[in-house]
Amino acid sequence: MSKYFSKRHTGLAPYVPGEQPRGGFIKLNTNEAPYPPAPAVLDTLNPGAASCLNLYPDPDGTALRAKLAAYHGVDSCNIVLGNGSDETLAFIFLAFFDGSHGVAFPDVTYGLYPVLASLFNIPYTRIPVGDTLDVNVEDYIGIDRNIVLANPNAQTGIALHIGEIERIAGTNPNRVVVIDEAYADFSGFSAIPLTGTYENLVVVRTYSKSRFMAGARLSYAIGDSSLIADIETVRRSYNPYNINSVTLAAGEAAIDCGDYYTEHWRRITNTRDRTALAMRALGFTLTDSSANFLFARNRDIPGAEIFGRLREGGILVRRFDSPERISDWLRITVGTEGQMEALIRALESIVKRGGAYAKK
Ligand SMILES: *Cc1c(COP(=O)(O)O)cnc(C)c1O
Repeated sequence: MSKYFSKRHTGLAPYVPGEQPRGGFIKLNTNEAPYPPAPAVLDTLNPGAASCLNLYPDPDGTALRAKLAAYHGVDSCNIVLGNGSDETLAFIFLAFFDGSHGVAFPDVTYGLYPVLASLFNIPYTRIPVGDTLDVNVEDYIGIDRNIVLANPNAQTGIALHIGEIERIAGTNPNRVVVIDEAYADFSGFSAIPLTGTYENLVVVRTYSKSRFMAGARLSYAIGDSSLIADIETVRRSYNPYNINSVTLAAGEAAIDCGDYYTEHWRRITNTRDRTALAMRALGFTLTDSSANFLFARNRDIPGAEIFGRLREGGILVRRFDSPERISDWLRITVGTEGQMEALIRALESIVKRGGAYAKK
């Protein structure tokens, strides 16, 4: 740290992304799709589009917002665009959370939430999930706090029902409730329809996971027009051209390719469910994931051990040291059928030798 680094950031611990090696691994560690974006998305990445890079993009993303509005059955004024959900979440934190009204989220969830809160000096509370790693809805009813919930939840894949989201939004009317729906396309339901009723509810969506475009950095938030206008004020104050023109065009094309995506979502969830069965047969305990990943542990073999053995075998998964009680769990992205067969073979041999490196 230099002597110039603002004292404001003393002790700031930045988010640590999963490893991003280029090649050499079966990469099941950051919940990317194992499939390319739809063909029409690839068609937008042509020399004609690139030749327009001398011009600024549309700062309002007008065409993409109109397309998303039609797709979700809302109005353009209900949508604000972000350069990935990480940025959209940052705008939301800046817009609505402050020293007098901090934010609450589960202790087991997306690791960027506490980092953003620290960066912006926002007090936060981590509400422990239950023994089965479920978010306990009652912990969020009428707490008069700003709330951020990933649904399905990050790391566990467990989803709250829409009725539960509705109760949380309805019983905290003076605070903002953020539902981070990075994985909602895999669960098949969304809180977006509730944003018409609850003016304190904002839903965050990303192209990274279910539109197979993590490299493009595109996200959006949907909510009441006045909430969205506030987020828009922050966005325009920070980076008015936050979405590049190539990504804007690719984002539109992806929405036009509904069949490609629904077919591949089905494929991914089928692969997920088959892999879960095979892992349970090997003695693993799994959460009930509605997302494009599995969350699993083996009672006899430490998580770090399995993680290391898989890595040696060329398979990258994700493990978290914090909170400590999930340190034996592994988060495994659902890859292609072939990749998951390789995973199961590797786990089989690790479990067979289990006694050799079992917990002491
Ligand atoms: C992956 C993920 C994000 C970040 O998405 P980007 O759009 O790639 O920034 C946000 N929230 C959750 C819960 C995620 O899993």
